Amino acid sequence: MIEAGCVQADDRQAGYAHRRIDLMSWTTYRDRLLDDPIIFLPVGALEQHGPHLPMGCDAILAAAITARVAEALDGLQLPALTYGYKSQARSGGGQTFPGTTSLDGATLTSLVRDIIREVARHGGRRIAIVNGHVENQWFLTEGIDLALRELASSNRQMQIVRCEYWNYTPQAILKGIFAGAFPGVDLEHAALLETSMMLALHPELVAMDAIPEDATGQFPAHDSYPHHSRGVPESGVLAPARAATAAVGITLIDSTVAEMVSALAREFA
Ligand code: ZN
Ligand code: MN
Repeated sequence: MIEAGCVQADDRQAGYAHRRIDLMSWTTYRDRLLDDPIIFLPVGALEQHGPHLPMGCDAILAAAITARVAEALDGLQLPALTYGYKSQARSGGGQTFPGTTSLDGATLTSLVRDIIREVARHGGRRIAIVNGHVENQWFLTEGIDLALRELASSNRQMQIVRCEYWNYTPQAILKGIFAGAFPGVDLEHAALLETSMMLALHPELVAMDAIPEDATGQFPAHDSYPHHSRGVPESGVLAPARAATAAVGITLIDSTVAEMVSALAREFA
């Protein structure tokens, strides 16, 4: 899938392009596989992120964090999947916004299964899937499971990790940013965390004066179908974003990357 140009721009500026599999020749890839690197696959979505953020936000953030982790762990990075599973009201505002362009679960599952199988066929043995979109989680897991079931018959050894990058953000950092009022990861859609990280990485893509004043999403404890947008603020932003700053974004990215690097180093040791 085609990556947003800005993902590439960020990687070039920061000097991570040399880890990008899509930017290297097959001969380079073949040679680097001999070192048994961790091969990273960032996954996002094309989903409304309020009037102030670009719709590729989840993939842009997952790819940027992945690039930094891959650099620290001497890994390689596959092109990000820039589409994801259907947006849900309580974590992304739902499917009713123009532009939220989503995959069926089976499509995402198949994409992930196919990519793992191909990496295995070329001799890759360690994969880390870095998810940036809440709704993707179990379809990524299903893709991993189907790939491993298939590969079991060929005796190929694979170690795969699936993670959501936000789970590495230290609680102490969140406490400091939200002063004890953290609304939770689901409601943080297009809100303080994502807006701050986008300000740190791509300020030119953030429309500060378009950040809405409107209220936090108000939801019951259930999902209801067919989808409706009751409880979703009109802007699509599920929690306050006004306090976002680039400095907060840098703190979030640095602390999350550091935590993720040590966790994956232990896992793949
Ligand atoms: Zn998002
Ligand atoms: Mn999302």
